[in-house]
Amino acid sequence: MAHESAVHEALKKHFGHSKFKSDLQEKAVKCAVKKKQDVYVSMPTGSGKSLCFQLPGLMSENQITIVFSPLLALIKDQIDHLTKLKVPADSLNSKMSTKERDRVIMDLKAVRTNLKFLYITPEQAATKFFQDLLQTLHKHNKLAYFAVDEAHCVSQWGHDFRPDYLKLGELRSKYSDVIWLALTATASREVKEDIYKQLRLHQPVAQFSTPSFRKNLFYDIVYKNSIEDDFQHLADFARHCLGNPKEFKDTPKPQRGCGIVYCRTRDQVERMAIGVTKQGIGAVAYHAGLKTGERTEVQEAWMRGDQPIICATNSFGMGVDKPSVRFVIHWDVPQNVAAYYQESGRAGRDGLQSYCRLYYGREDVRSIRFLLQNDAHRARGRGDKELLTERAIKQFEKITEFCERTTCRHKLFSDFFGDPTPDCSGQCDVCKRPKKAEKALEIFHRLCMDDAFKSHISLQDCADLYEE
Ligand code: ADP
Ligand code: MG
Ligand code: ZN
Repeated sequence: MAHESAVHEALKKHFGHSKFKSDLQEKAVKCAVKKKQDVYVSMPTGSGKSLCFQLPGLMSENQITIVFSPLLALIKDQIDHLTKLKVPADSLNSKMSTKERDRVIMDLKAVRTNLKFLYITPEQAATKFFQDLLQTLHKHNKLAYFAVDEAHCVSQWGHDFRPDYLKLGELRSKYSDVIWLALTATASREVKEDIYKQLRLHQPVAQFSTPSFRKNLFYDIVYKNSIEDDFQHLADFARHCLGNPKEFKDTPKPQRGCGIVYCRTRDQVERMAIGVTKQGIGAVAYHAGLKTGERTEVQEAWMRGDQPIICATNSFGMGVDKPSVRFVIHWDVPQNVAAYYQESGRAGRDGLQSYCRLYYGREDVRSIRFLLQNDAHRARGRGDKELLTERAIKQFEKITEFCERTTCRHKLFSDFFGDPTPDCSGQCDVCKRPKKAEKALEIFHRLCMDDAFKSHISLQDCADLYEE
């Protein structure tokens, strides 16, 4: 097909890539190039979503692609990247001088427009000035695509909702003959539905999503009240995950297996790092209480493989892409399914067998719940804020319920992302040994009852705490 080779040629010519990063990226690009349907792309960070609108945009002659992006910093990065590739791209924003703005506008209004991409925040997009500009561009058939980057910002269910994204829906209705492309890193089923609805994407939308199932990750839950020595238990597990000690030693340090232990508080992080190190496996501590310099040093020591384990609060991990993470342990219950998926998903990026374990205890649940209820209490009567805190509680309850059930651990994620139930093939404790999982849960419940009985009085004290 002439069309097929043209896509590959353009990929090489503009970006210097001889192949697509993934099958999904290729399919999304080819679909967008056809300009028959709106396109939704959900792929993890770093998988090359930008190319899914940049390549089709470049292939639309004498037309420009409008890209909505939530932050000026992101816009700057993308424009710099395109400029390096000699692709004319610019922005219109409040930080520009009048002269700069005029230059961009002149170009847009010229008969032959040089610019291929115009990046803009949704706030700017809402201005009368920009609306008029769009109308002119549209009248002269100069609009190639509208691309909405970080499309989850349109959803109130998302983690960084931006009210101005909601206004984009009106543009979709107004320019109904132009194709829209919406892109985001993994979004839950609810967020995806919201994106379709709020952006008024035309049905049927062509969807390209990385499946959420990670078949090289083994998930299990261990009940804290059923183990004797915390640090020892965890260290034994870490050793098991890191595999053969000889092989470990023979591998160059940076490529050696390693692991992350997430704890909720700074204190716990510190205690954990000391406790695990005493068990004979080196661990460093990382949390927001450290100075920036120290934090970087700790992270780099772990990246270099000086110490195999990093104990950290959830502030650790953004942008960390170490392939050989053999395990991610949650010492406390994660706050919600999205966070759990993201944090545990840092294991096994190289595709090799890796382990994700959650140590579960009712005490942790109680303290987290208490904090969330406090937040909710303070947010009462404050509109959106109240809604968010209430949602946070619901999402937390959902994950605790899950921990006290024997359902395939991978199903938690596939349900959350709206994917079909995957074939787990024994990659979780429940599917691997269902009887044992039932038994563990039963013992957990029995021990919880014993505890409640023993500490009857102190529990009542707690009840008072929660009241107000
Ligand atoms: P995302 O938006 O999904 O987080 P980006 O679009 O920022 O990802 O791309 C991540 C990196 O992948 C960039 O450095 C980009 O140049 C690179 N990339 C994208 N497509 C390809 C490809 N086909 N071949 C090689 N590298 C690619
Ligand atoms: Mg991106
Ligand atoms: Zn399973």
